[in-house]
Amino acid sequence: MLTFRRFTLIFLIILPGLNLWILLAARGTGGFPLCQALVLNGLLVAGYLGISFAMAFLPCSNFHHPVICRGRTGEKSVSITFDDGPDPVKTPVILEVLKKHGARATFFCIGGNLAGNETLLKKMIAEGHLPGNHSFSHSRWFDLFSADKIRAELLETDRMISEITGKTPCFFRPPFGVVNPMVSRALKNMHWQAVCWDIRSFDTMNPDPQKIKHKILRRLQPGSIILLHDATTFTAHHLDELLSAIADAGYKVVPLDSLLKLPAYAG
Ligand SMILES: [Zn+2]
Repeated sequence: MLTFRRFTLIFLIILPGLNLWILLAARGTGGFPLCQALVLNGLLVAGYLGISFAMAFLPCSNFHHPVICRGRTGEKSVSITFDDGPDPVKTPVILEVLKKHGARATFFCIGGNLAGNETLLKKMIAEGHLPGNHSFSHSRWFDLFSADKIRAELLETDRMISEITGKTPCFFRPPFGVVNPMVSRALKNMHWQAVCWDIRSFDTMNPDPQKIKHKILRRLQPGSIILLHDATTFTAHHLDELLSAIADAGYKVVPLDSLLKLPAYAG
């Protein structure tokens, strides 16, 4: 598997190799081809930076950090994950629908949304759902934060969840699904397991519910992890229909810890 570390190693081998090749090729010509050398070195460095940057948006490649995007199971079990909540209006609707279907889900909470929604979080846990960490601010600049700042955000969200529920979550969903070297460094030697998805619903984009449902059903397979958002009106309105369709397809919705066979809580 190509990881950032290996990729950097290859780059560091190729870079002096390229310059040695330029030097040898220029032997006997009476001078070093500075312009060509600068262009070739520039292209190589740009390629290295460009690929490293692009891979941050493909978390399932495990390029920058190990990320789970699907469970390994032969059983027709899938997990539904809700990001960006809790929301005082829509999350309770979603909890009722989940209860009706006997489905247990995972809620990746934004720490900044927890104040005032403590009872909602307790209700979530009491009804068998799992909390996950989805940063504290979910800032649009999150991907530019330093590793220390990212870690501080995650610890703060952990602290709030732990204060409310007595439990510290292990599952972490990177905001925007971006996993870069700073995120990787923030997670290193900590208890968090990064979890993304293999089915993205795009439910935040005011979509056609039938299209979304069919897209999810088409891509559904044993171990799938579906990304939804509990702060959207769409999800609150159409979850019932979606869960019925998933059940009709013979799939059972289970929380992440049972799908992945990993602990949901630290300690
Ligand atoms: Zn999010």
